[in-house]
Amino acid sequence: MTTRPNSAIEALSILAEVTRILHEEQPLNQRMHRVFALLRVGVRFRDARLTCWLQSAQPGTVRQQYYSADGWPYPWDEALTRRVALGGVSATHNIVVRNDVVGDQHLPVAQASYLGAPIFWGGRLWGVLELRATYDTSLIGPPQELIAALLPQLAVAIAQEGRRLPLPPVGASDGDTPTGLTLAPQRKQQLAEIGERLEEMLDLPALLSLLLRRGLETTGAEAGAIALVDHERGELVLQMAEGYPAELWNGLPAHSHQRLSWETGLAGRAARLGRAILVRDVTQEPDLPPAGAGARAELAAPICIDGRAAAVIIFDSTRSNAFGEDELAFVRALCAQAAHPLSRAVHYQEALENANYLGQVFAALPTGLALLDGNGKVLRANPAWGNLWGLNGQQSRAPFHVSLDLVEILLPRLQEPLRLTEFCTSGQRTPGETQTQRVRLINPTQELQILSVPTRDSQQQFSGRLWAVTNVTREGEADRVKNEFVSTVSHELRTPLTSILGYTELLLNREFSAAERTQFTRTVYTEASRLSQLVEDLLSVSRIEAGKVKLNQWLTSLNSIVAELTTQLNTQLARHRMLLAVPPSLPPVYIDRDKVKQVIFNLLTNAIKYSPNGGQITLTIKEAQPSDLPPEHPKGRWVRVAIHDQGIGIAPEDLPRIWERFYRVDNTNTRRIGGTGLGLSITRALVELHGGRIWAESELGKGSHFYFTLPIPGVELTRRGAQG
Ligand code: ADP
Repeated sequence: MTTRPNSAIEALSILAEVTRILHEEQPLNQRMHRVFALLRVGVRFRDARLTCWLQSAQPGTVRQQYYSADGWPYPWDEALTRRVALGGVSATHNIVVRNDVVGDQHLPVAQASYLGAPIFWGGRLWGVLELRATYDTSLIGPPQELIAALLPQLAVAIAQEGRRLPLPPVGASDGDTPTGLTLAPQRKQQLAEIGERLEEMLDLPALLSLLLRRGLETTGAEAGAIALVDHERGELVLQMAEGYPAELWNGLPAHSHQRLSWETGLAGRAARLGRAILVRDVTQEPDLPPAGAGARAELAAPICIDGRAAAVIIFDSTRSNAFGEDELAFVRALCAQAAHPLSRAVHYQEALENANYLGQVFAALPTGLALLDGNGKVLRANPAWGNLWGLNGQQSRAPFHVSLDLVEILLPRLQEPLRLTEFCTSGQRTPGETQTQRVRLINPTQELQILSVPTRDSQQQFSGRLWAVTNVTREGEADRVKNEFVSTVSHELRTPLTSILGYTELLLNREFSAAERTQFTRTVYTEASRLSQLVEDLLSVSRIEAGKVKLNQWLTSLNSIVAELTTQLNTQLARHRMLLAVPPSLPPVYIDRDKVKQVIFNLLTNAIKYSPNGGQITLTIKEAQPSDLPPEHPKGRWVRVAIHDQGIGIAPEDLPRIWERFYRVDNTNTRRIGGTGLGLSITRALVELHGGRIWAESELGKGSHFYFTLPIPGVELTRRGAQG
């Protein structure tokens, strides 16, 4: 309950008493004090206020505010008051009152009930009556009715007060304002005070907000907006607005920098003409659309820089004749005063935006960028810079010199450390020259391209360098693959061809014993097989790359494949011991028999090839336990095939690369052994086509372990029976 018992009768008696008080001869502030005290008997509000525009015979109004005694220390929301004034309807809602520091007291945020009623009478807005109560007190219902009944009485009182109160003198000044306009001393003082604050301001939004706020306060307007002017596009770019209904800005927030054509509306006209315009009643101007329902008086003024409007400010009121010469003079003076600070703030804002924009580009570029001073010290670098060099945050923290710190940190990874050192020093020797260099790193292998461009300061003096670093490992890799392809293929073609040609020539031109002929023919056959294998491998690679390899899958037992392979490899196994650990009870796998045979064949031949001193080769096949598989291996049932040798092994830096096409570990051993570097890339592709994985472990000089997996199919497939 917000009213006491018997509330209707009580409300009527309050109304009668309020009417009586309002008709007394006292100044309105005293009468309002008593009215608020009386209202408290019927409505449990926390505080109340009356904002009114005292009209006079002359154009212009005086804005006055009267408060209830025992005010709540929370500040009133002026923007809300303006919205109620412009909305033309009473508003009740719950609001949050802010926790401003009042005196020494720090108040918590509080929720409050709010009732705001515009005092509208005879087509004119006289004022706004507002009540605030604690959150648990409703202001809807009887309190609303009581307040509604009071509004005409208040309109009468405000009208009478407007006639009684002397208006501030107009045109009584000496005309020394920036525009040469005359202003009342009180206005001049306000202007001087605003001027002082504007001089300190660099922040554009803060400056515009100050102009708008002070303009609203001084003119008594219920709504106002400020926009920047875009002359190229003939548009206004809205910066902030207060008091207008949201529909006016297409429902977007007023600060969203909406663009509006300057062809319509008073603000656009003021911007185009570059002068202030006062319209006492928009409804009388057919070519001016009113800014929102109920707008009557409008006042717009440009803020000119170098003779043209850089910004425009507009004020609106629901009261016709709300603004007069006095308001016009004040707004013009305000705009003239704001010109210089605005120009400074706009430039500052542009500089900030440019810096921010460039900063974002700098940070987002994948190219590593670093600005160096004349001594090679890094002044600024983007995240890609540290990432490309593999620096951690600690390492790249200032002060950081490329010639000292970068070279030292990278030393263990640089393939040719002198290249980088020389690059740094020659940059300092010849400050005006653009330079480029490629740097190779190991662990991980990387190739970086550095472009070093001289930079100049605003006086055009060389100030240092900009280093732009790009990762060209891929390009380098593509080059390497191409070169390796040409040299491998030509070498692998030439060697067997030379033997074939040599032996066939011998056989054609000379007589040999039957045994010799057989031996030569066998060599020719072996070399021709090598050629055929090379061609086969090359075709496989291109088929795999084109995605043309299809599997012909059947349920198959691996035991049979192993038996065939060992027989086939028997002749090559002269120096090696072959150990088989293949249980007879292996679950069948769903595979392309020929392809899997090729995989095991490739791995076994490599094991033989790369253990030239003989040793043991073990082939183990089992159903994999989770511990047999690498952590990232897909889940499910798998058969794991393992091939171990005791050969030359593979160095850790080569191990990840042996799967690449044409990649061959380059050392005396491998050079002597020969090969194309294609086998493992084909092998991996075939395993992965089956859904399996392949991986290797190795230790240089001790031997290698190659593993791959094949999926064991679900029950459905197994029931259909095994092949082979
Ligand atoms: P190729 O044997 O024709 O050179 P592969 O693709 O089969 O090509 O192998 C790539 C490289 O991996 C080989 O050049 C060799 O350096 C290394 N490699 C492969 N298998 C072994 C192994 N079992 N032991 C040592 N190194 C091996």
